[in-house]
Amino acid sequence: MKLNDRGLLVVVSGPSGVGKGTVRKALFEMPKHNLTYSVSMTTRKQRPGEKDGVDYYFVSKEEFLKRVEEGKFLEHAEFVGNYYGTPLDKVNERLEDGQEVVLEIEVEGALQVKKKVPDCVMIFIVPPGKEALYQRLRKRGTESEDVIEQRIEKANREFKLAKYYDYIVVNDEVSNAADRIMAIIRAEHAKTARS
Ligand code: 5GP
Repeated sequence: MKLNDRGLLVVVSGPSGVGKGTVRKALFEMPKHNLTYSVSMTTRKQRPGEKDGVDYYFVSKEEFLKRVEEGKFLEHAEFVGNYYGTPLDKVNERLEDGQEVVLEIEVEGALQVKKKVPDCVMIFIVPPGKEALYQRLRKRGTESEDVIEQRIEKANREFKLAKYYDYIVVNDEVSNAADRIMAIIRAEHAKTARS
């Protein structure tokens, strides 16, 4: 029985191309969980197959900046020329409701969250090797060479910030990585239940 009924805020980061999205989907397909995903807002162009309101809320730069002014984000950051942010209202509502809320965000935003919500759980996903990461980024084929290079450079900078995270999870195999993340969430949940 959980004494503190507020849900846990789980922040998942990792370099572009590490397979965060796939791991997150596998996590949500696991049986008997109380996780809810926070859909971010972005000014990035929609990729083929992405759905507005499911993968992201796609908005213009003007609209995004207006929301920043209005204080509507828990955190926000610029990533390779586009803005990304976590809408505050839904996150709070769900935490109050006792749900575990998962954010999949880049490092700069994650560190903002850690400051505002110190008891959040920070998980950083790494590839089994950097080569695998570069290959995956190129294979995806949705970005230009220039953008891929920028993402690789950003990935290298992000690796250096992994030390600020509570847990490092290796994505050697999607289902293994999802299992490890679920084990972390369950253990952290049990800890807050005791405090
Ligand atoms: P992508 O363009 O590949 O979908 O995402 C680029 C990066 O932005 C990824 O590292 C992703 O985790 C991050 N990201 C997605 N949503 C948010 C958000 O709401 N806030 C922040 N800070 N980063 C985000």
